[in-house]
Amino acid sequence: MEIVTVNTGTNREARWRVHDASKCKGQRCVFHNPSEHRMSSWRMILRETGLVERACMHGVGHPDPDSVDYFNRMGWKGYDVHGCDGCCGTLGK
Ligand SMILES: [Zn+2]
Ligand SMILES: [Zn+2]
Ligand SMILES: [Zn+2]
Repeated sequence: MEIVTVNTGTNREARWRVHDASKCKGQRCVFHNPSEHRMSSWRMILRETGLVERACMHGVGHPDPDSVDYFNRMGWKGYDVHGCDGCCGTLGK
């Protein structure tokens, strides 16, 4: 486990316990090696599963693509499914 500092909106310097950086070495990761996407600056929500979502301006949580990528690599599928209001732009993918 490792501690990272993230922007959760209400607490811009929240500290989360996340997986070790060695688990995602050289690969996309929402914490250690984030890609550029339209939700990059949105505040983060940590789900009980460990999945990271991003909250749009309407307060709707959209799974972070880098977090979904990590879950897919672990063989955990279907985490990109969510109640979407269209803001993340991944609808219909
Ligand atoms: Zn990582
Ligand atoms: Zn929205
Ligand atoms: Zn969405």
